[in-house]
Amino acid sequence: MKRCFVALRLPEETRAALGRLLVELRELAPAAARRLRPVRSTNLHLTLKFLGATPDDQVPTLTAALEPIARRSRLPPLTLDGIGAFPSADRPRILFAAPLHPQEPLCHLAEEIEQACLPLGFAAEKRGQHPHVTLARIEAATPRGPLSDFIARHAHDAFGALDVSALVLFESQLSPSGSIYTPLATLALGAA
Ligand code: ATP
Ligand code: MG
Repeated sequence: MKRCFVALRLPEETRAALGRLLVELRELAPAAARRLRPVRSTNLHLTLKFLGATPDDQVPTLTAALEPIARRSRLPPLTLDGIGAFPSADRPRILFAAPLHPQEPLCHLAEEIEQACLPLGFAAEKRGQHPHVTLARIEAATPRGPLSDFIARHAHDAFGALDVSALVLFESQLSPSGSIYTPLATLALGAA
């Protein structure tokens, strides 16, 4: 089995800009910082579909199902122009960056991928499509004040572009020192 997901990459400059934001996040009140798990900047990505446990022999089938979607999908230039938190800025558990507008092309693409994966046995996302770049995981007990201020301060920052040139099927290997992502297939977007 491989743990898989489909994502867009971020160009190096965008990852560097988000990396600087994460440095600032770590420098918040030390009480908050201990309860934050920032994503390593090399690992930053935008997930379109989380597949989870995937039998090794399903990988070629999956790639074949994604290929025509990628070929006929062209995304407009998209930039990460804000940060926010799930479930809300007042109760932040996941800190994310996302394009504020337009979000429809990404949601549409995520939906298409989802539909193509359903017949292969991959469950639909119950929480709806909210394409975003996870920046940090935050423990529930974290003091909220400094975090909410941080989110408000950076709510409309511009962090740079998403790489809309390709869909990437990644394998994720979880390890105590952080997850390791390995690209299994890179499918050019809009190559039709
Ligand atoms: P860790 O879980 O150790 O923090 P990670 O979240 O970086 O590591 P994975 O759990 O393999 O690595 O997740 C890969 C990608 O899929 C991430 O973008 C993650 O947010 C997303 N993801 C993981 N689980 C789910 C899920 N159940 N539903 C939707 N997206 C998910
Ligand atoms: Mg995870």
